[in-house]
Amino acid sequence: HHPVWDAVDAYTLPHSHPPSRPNTAALTNALVASKAAGLPDISASPAQAKFLALAARAAKVTHALEVGTLGGYSAIWLASENPQLHLTTVEFDAHHVAVARANIVFAGLANRIDVIHGAGVDVLARLKGEVLAGTRPRFGFVFIDADKTNNWNYFDLAADMALPGATIVVDNVVRGGRLVDEEALQLPQIQGAREVVEKVGRDARADSVVLQTVGEKSYDGWLWAVVN
Ligand code: SAM
Repeated sequence: HHPVWDAVDAYTLPHSHPPSRPNTAALTNALVASKAAGLPDISASPAQAKFLALAARAAKVTHALEVGTLGGYSAIWLASENPQLHLTTVEFDAHHVAVARANIVFAGLANRIDVIHGAGVDVLARLKGEVLAGTRPRFGFVFIDADKTNNWNYFDLAADMALPGATIVVDNVVRGGRLVDEEALQLPQIQGAREVVEKVGRDARADSVVLQTVGEKSYDGWLWAVVN
């Protein structure tokens, strides 16, 4: 962690996203209510969440998928910055689901964000069945941010239900550089990060890159893939 990273986010964010913006109250409420409900402070940073939302807007995404809802913070960013977007977001923890749904109702986004309670692999397998059956639209944007050991399973399922040209983002693959630390190779989260980097790299369904990031949520990085 570096104080300059915090300071740059603290300086730039109020310029690029002034507190007068319409989604400010909803985003603040999501963080405050999540903390009050005892959820861990592991949501995406405001700058990173807005970047994801703007990427979805640039691609004119109408249907997005998230794995790992937590309190709905990144979900509220995605939907509130994209009036055309419908988001399906999957969460395993029943308490997180309840907090997220309340935060989404507060944000006035319950009609465009569907929180599905369940284990990511099970739910994505069901969604894939619906997509392949033609009863659910393909996704134009996917944000994978749940249990890191299933990163590859989530990518593998998501790639089969993505539109051509869709973006699939996997969060937290750099983990302060531990991605390449010999001593960390036994950690399940590092194995999950390396597995998804290596397997997506040789997957004919997508082209990918890992982008390292710093900011108020420390040093980490995304795997960013575009589906062929
Ligand atoms: N995307 C959220 C945001 O930026 O506001 C943060 C998500 S948090 C890093 C990860 C979430 O994944 C937690 O709420 C956790 O309960 C959930 N999770 C863990 N294992 C899961 C699983 N197998 N299926 C679905 N969600 C899971």
